[in-house]
Order: sequence, then C-alpha cells, then structure tokens
Amino acid sequence: MNKILFAAICILLLGVVPVICNAQVDPRWKIHDPDRPAPPVIDSGTQSTQDSPGRPPSDAVVLFDGKDLSKWGHKDGSAAKWKVENGYFEVVPKTGEIHTREAFGDCQLHVEFAEPAPPKGEGQDRGNSGVFLQGLYETQVLDSYQSKTYADGQASAIYGQYPPLVNASRPPGQWQTYDIVFHGPRFAKDGKLLRPARETVFHNGVLVQDNVELSGPTAHGKRPPYEPQPEKLPLALQDHNHPVRYRNIWIRELKTQD
Ligand code: MG
Repeated sequence: MNKILFAAICILLLGVVPVICNAQVDPRWKIHDPDRPAPPVIDSGTQSTQDSPGRPPSDAVVLFDGKDLSKWGHKDGSAAKWKVENGYFEVVPKTGEIHTREAFGDCQLHVEFAEPAPPKGEGQDRGNSGVFLQGLYETQVLDSYQSKTYADGQASAIYGQYPPLVNASRPPGQWQTYDIVFHGPRFAKDGKLLRPARETVFHNGVLVQDNVELSGPTAHGKRPPYEPQPEKLPLALQDHNHPVRYRNIWIRELKTQD
C-alpha cells in the first residue's frame, strides 16, 4: 500500500475510533493495578412497587419526587400546568408539553408512568404521551396492553424508527417503568455529524431497545436528518391530549469518552 494512503487511513482511524467507542481499556493502568482509583461509593436506592415509588440512587438528579413540578416548565418558560396529586402528576390535555428547566446530555433516565384506567380509544389514541430525550428523540409512551397500533409507534418504541423487541406493557392503571441509557449525537464544528444518538431501553425491567442507532429526531410520518445541536438540551414529556400519569423521575448524567 502506498505510504501516504496508509498514513491517511491511520489518521482517519485515530480520529474515528474514539468517537464510535464508548469504552476502551484505559492504557494508563496495568491490570489489577492497586493504585487505580476506586469508583465513587453511592447509595443505589430502592425499587418501586405498585404502591410506592422507590428511592432514587443518591447521585441522581431528581426531576419529580411526588411533590411539585418546580423542575419543569412549558416552552415559553411558564410554570407547568399539569396536575400534581397523590405523589404523581398527570398530563392536562392541551396545556402543551413540559420541559426540564435544566439541560442534559448523555444520561441514564428513570421514568414511571401509568396509563388512564379504564382505557379510552384505540391505537395511537389510547394513553399517548412520550419521553423526548433532549426534547427531540421520542421514546413512545402509549397504552399498548391488548391494543394494536403500528409497531414503530407502540409503547417503548423509538417512535417511527424502532419497535420494541417485545411488548412488556402492563394493564392500564398499573405503574410501569422506563430505564433508558442515552448517548446524544456529536457534531463537528462545521456541523457535520460525527456520531448519531444511541439508546437502550428497559420497559418494566425488560430489554426492549438494545443500543440502537437513531436515524435523527422524531417526527410523525417522516425521518428528518440530524441538525447540529448543543450537547445538552432539556428533557421533555409530551402532551398528546391524554391524562397519562408520571411519578419518580430521575436522571444521572454520564461522563463518557468522546
Ligand atoms: Mg407519543
């Protein structure tokens, strides 16, 4: 191989590999090195039950603890008009989506939701809401318990892109969980996409999205391309005119190699 071509390929690989790999063995430490720093000690919290939400990990940012929506607001900055009662909050139809006041990048996110009971409507018109990572990428919230819709729009689908691996939905009225690992997209200074967003989702503890590569932001009936965006943006919950309930929402920011 021509030397210049070989050098060019090496430079390209050196630039690309750190972008596509989230974890590599750190060459600074030898195996079982006693001097390697120990990870921080945290309290891992507790699991939720149907009767009561669990306790978040001690290093999580709590976005809703059952009391108020002070961490959330509408797009125009006004206070969230969704209803808070009995340790949960509920979508108030036609008030609009709500956003966190803080912006987040790569993260682990825990969300609990309950679909309206008794159920009303069918398909997309049944308990529809959504978790919009960075306000752009929707993990669908829907009542998909014994209710049919298109596969890439059912509960825990990456809307319009990936159906879940299985339908792990619980009946309406029961509390359900999403545990999401999200790595946002990265862009070069000139706006070129360096790496697409990736997402893993557990629905009620079951793996439903396995590190899938997102094609771009969520839209209805189309798959728009990525647009350059900041590394951190607020999380949003969708108002789709249905009184879906949420509780126990927390997020842990991830520090990953870029
Ligand atoms: Mg939705």
